[in-house]
Amino acid sequence: MNTRIDLHAHSTASDGTLTPGELVQAAAAAGLDVVAITDHDTTAGWEPAVRALPAGLRLVRGAELSCRWDGEDPAVPLHLLAYLFDPDDPDLTAALSRVRHARVERGERIVRLLQADGLEVSWSETLAAARGGTVGRPHIAQTLIRAGLVATTSEAFGPDWLGGRYRLPKEDIEVFEAIRLVRAAGGVPVFAHPRATRRGRVVPDELIADLAAAGLAGLEADHEDHTPAERAHVRALAADLGLLVTGASDFHGAHKTVRLGAFTTDPQAYERIVAAGVTSVASG
Ligand code: AMP
Ligand code: FE
Ligand code: FE
Ligand code: ZN
Repeated sequence: MNTRIDLHAHSTASDGTLTPGELVQAAAAAGLDVVAITDHDTTAGWEPAVRALPAGLRLVRGAELSCRWDGEDPAVPLHLLAYLFDPDDPDLTAALSRVRHARVERGERIVRLLQADGLEVSWSETLAAARGGTVGRPHIAQTLIRAGLVATTSEAFGPDWLGGRYRLPKEDIEVFEAIRLVRAAGGVPVFAHPRATRRGRVVPDELIADLAAAGLAGLEADHEDHTPAERAHVRALAADLGLLVTGASDFHGAHKTVRLGAFTTDPQAYERIVAAGVTSVASG
């Protein structure tokens, strides 16, 4: 039987809707053999996920780091998946903590901007929706839905709302610094959805070559935000640069329509990640 490996999923520790325990249960129910928990800028979901790990499921502990590339003005935001790093590394935990605080501050500024435009939305309700996890625009989307201003999360991310006037930048980690921090903490950095043009601006291939030289381990090719042509491009680039290739759902529970296991990673790429990481894979 072939091994089913999904290396990118979110819980309520950030902007997913399943708790870490529910996430690993759902991963087992979806027939996965391996799942990675990769919440935005936090490792808070690791322990509850390990405690709830069902028999037969393996858990890769990771995070998705909010990064920026300063090669354009304004900087291009990008996401770096980091796997199997030491969660107690002081430099990396300090960087993640700074990003989480900046996210709270930016979330409040977005809500205040909505209020200044006469819209009845509440910051305390938005914070409550985050349930103590990393605050993100999906939580503000929930506030917009509850206020009756939009019908769906995707409408909330549209040009009239969080994708337009109410889109404010946050303080992300400079991407070369992020790779250095992840490697220094014994982790394995993989560029998440690097060609997702439908999300906005993407970085040039030359930068990806520089990131590879700086320690990047892989590229996420199979992702719902990549077209088939973008997936093929990412695969070819990875082959050129000697990088491993992953595929993953980027599951967010009810905040997105994609299902766990919708995209998967080859066992050989998974084994390369496991061999390179300092934290072991947890087994249920
Ligand atoms: P933030 O990290 O606060 O800037 O919010 C970005 C997050 O919002 C991403 O990680 C996705 O989870 C989510 N997101 C972005 N675009 C959409 C969309 N069109 N529909 C639903 N969720 C989205
Ligand atoms: Fe997200
Ligand atoms: Fe992402
Ligand atoms: Zn993600």
